[in-house]
Amino acid sequence: MSVVIEHEESVNYTPLERMRHSAAHIMAEAVQEMFPDAKFAIGPAIEDGFYYDFDLPRALTPEDLPEIEQRMARIIAGKYPFVRDRWPREKALEYFRAKNQDYKVELIENLPDAEVGIYQQHNFLDLCRGPHVENTSQVGAFKLMRVAGAYWRGDENRPMLQRVYGTAWFTQEELDQYLWRLEEALKRETQTLRLERRSTRRRAHVPAAWRNAAL
Ligand SMILES: [Zn+2]
Repeated sequence: MSVVIEHEESVNYTPLERMRHSAAHIMAEAVQEMFPDAKFAIGPAIEDGFYYDFDLPRALTPEDLPEIEQRMARIIAGKYPFVRDRWPREKALEYFRAKNQDYKVELIENLPDAEVGIYQQHNFLDLCRGPHVENTSQVGAFKLMRVAGAYWRGDENRPMLQRVYGTAWFTQEELDQYLWRLEEALKRETQTLRLERRSTRRRAHVPAAWRNAAL
């Protein structure tokens, strides 16, 4: 899927996806606080949560996630409104070029519109069509899950970015249930692997002639 289509599709977000996508903006602001030179790519809602792709001066580790979460919690508690604006594409290009936001510049260059959507919450301004929640306090219970490498636009010839995945739910109970389901699925998977390994070992003990006969 092209980035432009992904960008367009955000318009059809359900309330849950809208909240998750808003959480991605908040995560981006937290990352901006930690790395003022961070470059931002895209941050859509996905199944069970959201992600944002970042170009950062160093590799993130799982130990960074609690700090990002704490900063997100402060932004959420601040109840900052998501303020919508529309800028002529030239103004947006100028703004993001001045901030060395190469990925945003490329996104705008690929948008056909004369005007582009801009959203700001607190100290973070982003190119986006929305929609978002009205203010940051409407983002529910969330947890950052992991960091993974992701090529810009899925192209292995383009820069490798750092994708931080998070999950977000309207209530703490829903988040807890989701994490529990994940844990249970992981346990089942481990158990299946163990059983498979055991039966492979047993087969290996069968004389070769019998194995052939069984085929
Ligand atoms: Zn957005």
